[in-house]
Amino acid sequence: MSAAFDQKIHETVTDPRLQLAIYTATGRLIEKRRGAVDDAVLPDYQELRTQANAVKQHTIENLDFYLEQLEENVTAHGGKVVWCQDGAEVADFILKLAKERQAHLIVKSKSMTTEEIDLNERVEKHGLESVETDLGEYILQLAHERPYHIVAPALHKTRYDVADIFERTLGVEREEVIEKQTKIARSVLRQKFLAADIGISGANFLVADSGAIVLVENEGNARLSTTAPKIHIAVAGIEKLIPRAQDLAVFLKLLGRSATGQPLTVYTSMLSGPRREGEIDGPDEFYLVLLDNGRTKVLADEEKRQALYCIRCGACLNHCPVYRKIGGHSFPWVYSGPIGAIITPQFMGTLHEPGLPFASSLCGACAEVCPVKIDIPQILLDLRADIKEAETKQGTNRWERLAFRMWSWVMRRPKLYEMASMMAASLAPSNDGYIRNLPGPMNVGPVAGWLSQRDLPVPAARSFRQQWRRRRR
Ligand code: SF4
Repeated sequence: MSAAFDQKIHETVTDPRLQLAIYTATGRLIEKRRGAVDDAVLPDYQELRTQANAVKQHTIENLDFYLEQLEENVTAHGGKVVWCQDGAEVADFILKLAKERQAHLIVKSKSMTTEEIDLNERVEKHGLESVETDLGEYILQLAHERPYHIVAPALHKTRYDVADIFERTLGVEREEVIEKQTKIARSVLRQKFLAADIGISGANFLVADSGAIVLVENEGNARLSTTAPKIHIAVAGIEKLIPRAQDLAVFLKLLGRSATGQPLTVYTSMLSGPRREGEIDGPDEFYLVLLDNGRTKVLADEEKRQALYCIRCGACLNHCPVYRKIGGHSFPWVYSGPIGAIITPQFMGTLHEPGLPFASSLCGACAEVCPVKIDIPQILLDLRADIKEAETKQGTNRWERLAFRMWSWVMRRPKLYEMASMMAASLAPSNDGYIRNLPGPMNVGPVAGWLSQRDLPVPAARSFRQQWRRRRR
């Protein structure tokens, strides 16, 4: 585990205000989801999950076919598809277009894909203004923070924090009433929507057979961002595809329920291409940016590529005991929680944060609630194996390997094992029945670290075998 990861975790678990905010917010989302997928209201919930998993598996296995179909249909509706390898290519495209159209102001609706490539920072470096219009994202942009949660980006902020941020950055009077805070944000953002040259959105789904992008949201800001400005650019990862519009019936039923416990989000928009003749709103130009950024690398791994089925509902975060303790900002990339733990090493490299796949109790809660049935615990185990293999190649885990070899050697010799246990029981320094450290030179780096974080009970004075022998005698 890197020092930065360790430090962030420490900061979060020792902050009672933050702990309360995370527990309260995730607890509320857990309750809402539970009610929304209950047998009484959605008896076919498990079948929907199976179906969603099958559709995603089929799509990912035939991604090339569906991507071509999508491009054909987007083009047929007057849009343009732009293929980008990484964040730099996305920014280059947007900057070039902005220059050609003399655009200065961008309004953005919430999109984890653009967070993933630091799009705001990239375009702002070149003089464009890019404003987040989702309330949570807007608060975080003002606070210069990244999202804390996939679905509820400002989950860790209380209304008092928001009052501080608005007062400091917008120069308004301090306001602690949530409805009034919303009004303040709305009055600023309305002006931005009206003046914006470009609207940027993500996409919850890309529908191959109709060339449409689908956006689900609760605030209406995505609808405004995609229809008010003259240019709409949707930036989406290539894995967001589903084959047919009718498949949406399955995914929309699952997404809202898993994310916020809503049967459907307040707004569901299907957008295909620019405004057509006779239509009263919509952009003049529509671009769909399809981003790879490591996804084809994940695709190559037949076992772990199921991570690409994710529909970013956030349910695995809410139910993860680790996320609920260490929060979203402890994670080393924008994607946090169990889904972050399985995609970060695959996108960023196995050793990007080697402690990440190990930061899990493997309780399986994530897999139980995942609406597309991603086997997160199994992927975590596979990633742990990959990390150990990579460390062995680099020779960075020599001591650990040596310790395990010795352990295995002793374990295969019952007499020796018994003697070692007896010695450990008699030598173990303990005042309270737990071993807190080892004597002298044995109490080194990883061993000391391990003991400082875990309860290791002192071995029983007599082993099971000794007790058994005694009993028989
Ligand atoms: S992995 Fe599953 S539960 Fe987690 S965000 Fe993705 S779809 Fe939701």
